[in-house]
Amino acid sequence: SLSDRLTSTFKNLRGKGRLSESDINATIRDIRLALIDADVATPVVREFTGRIRERALGAEVSAALNPGQQVVKIVNEELVEVLGGKTRELQMAKRPPTVIMLAGLQGSGKTTFAGKLARHLRDKGHFPVLVAADLQRPNAVTQLEVVAERAGVPCFAPERGNEGGHDAATGEGTQSYGDPVWVAQAGVGQAKVRQYDVVIVDTAGRLAVDENLMKQAGDIREAIQPDEVLFVIDAMIGQAAIETALAFQQGVDFTGVVLSKLDGDARGGAALSVASVTGRPIMYSSIGEQTKDIEVFHPDRMASRILDMGDILTLIEQAEKAFDRDQAAAMARKFMDEEDFTFEDFLQQMQAIKKMGNLKALMGMMPGMSGMKDQLNALDEKEFDRVEAMVRSMTPFERTHPKQINGSRRARIAGGAGTTVSEVNQLLERFGQAQKMMRQMRRGGGMPGMPGMPG
Ligand code: GDP
Ligand code: MG
Repeated sequence: SLSDRLTSTFKNLRGKGRLSESDINATIRDIRLALIDADVATPVVREFTGRIRERALGAEVSAALNPGQQVVKIVNEELVEVLGGKTRELQMAKRPPTVIMLAGLQGSGKTTFAGKLARHLRDKGHFPVLVAADLQRPNAVTQLEVVAERAGVPCFAPERGNEGGHDAATGEGTQSYGDPVWVAQAGVGQAKVRQYDVVIVDTAGRLAVDENLMKQAGDIREAIQPDEVLFVIDAMIGQAAIETALAFQQGVDFTGVVLSKLDGDARGGAALSVASVTGRPIMYSSIGEQTKDIEVFHPDRMASRILDMGDILTLIEQAEKAFDRDQAAAMARKFMDEEDFTFEDFLQQMQAIKKMGNLKALMGMMPGMSGMKDQLNALDEKEFDRVEAMVRSMTPFERTHPKQINGSRRARIAGGAGTTVSEVNQLLERFGQAQKMMRQMRRGGGMPGMPGMPG
């Protein structure tokens, strides 16, 4: 997986202050392989990695993250953005009913999704109805009726009995029976009269993009003026994603995308392909054959599925959360004002570190960190607690004037914290060294790391 591959990259990056061009190239090579693994179409991979490279080269160095984390963060941010940024909700008509049309290749999962969406909306308090405008195959209407029944919603379908000829052996219609444009229009009309507030119109598809069917879909769109046209695409489609998506965008110009069959092995690369060539948001994922198997699409979750490194992304998020920007600004001011670092500052930093949760578990999630086992073990959290207890036993005056902490004060602090005077001595000595180091760094102009943290 990408995580494994990046482990080696992280190892090389650790300890460097800034990403060099060759570092970035190495990471990008890994990212490119991961995207290809996830079945992202080749031209999209090329374009995407190019953009990442540019951004990484121009990136400001983050104080909260190491360089490797920074590149991953950039990749993740770009992915989320291409995938539509935030979750995009259905656009409901100001005057009901809201008309939603489904389009896509045959077998992509339109009919199944029609039932899922109906159920999803019904659960949210809507009154949806399905309309069967796929009259291409004799059993398509029956299939939608079954789907509707499972979803617990009504289905408007044309009267049967006047079907045109169809091949009994294959079930394929040799001609369409009934006019799908008329059926769609009549269905929307009925929904209006009967006061349903959402109409979901199922349409026909072909195994490959087909001019006549595309024209039919375009005509249906023209006739019913839908509020949303959702393009349903099989997540396993692979390289063909671009061609198919562009054909449907030209033919019917959809407003949103549904990614189906995400329950399979698909890592979701089609999502990136479709979103990046059409610029349309992905709105739902279909994750199984049952009516309940529908999910509102979350760009951030899909990004981590494509990258296959959710743990690292969680880690990055937590590290950033812990790094309080205000605190950084206050620290910077301290350096400018030539003030000394105090135990109050120290306590604040310890709180920031604690916010990160269990530090060891967190660092353990990071690839490349296995090489840091010794340092991790040296970071004894019990000792951390003892240090905090000592600082807390100090008075505000003592925290800001550590040099004034004489023998009797030390004894009192040790007593309050349940430690020994020699431990308090050690803490004060280490603290004095940290202060001195910071004064030197201030003179040198560099920003110090956090005292109390392992190098
Ligand atoms: P349509 O031709 O676009 O209407 O596609 P259908 O809704 O008839 O689906 C085609 C096949 O894919 C059926 O066998 C469905 O059960 C199956 N299918 C649809 N959506 C999903 C999904 O999300 N996951 C899985 N595993 N199968 C699906
Ligand atoms: Mg169908």
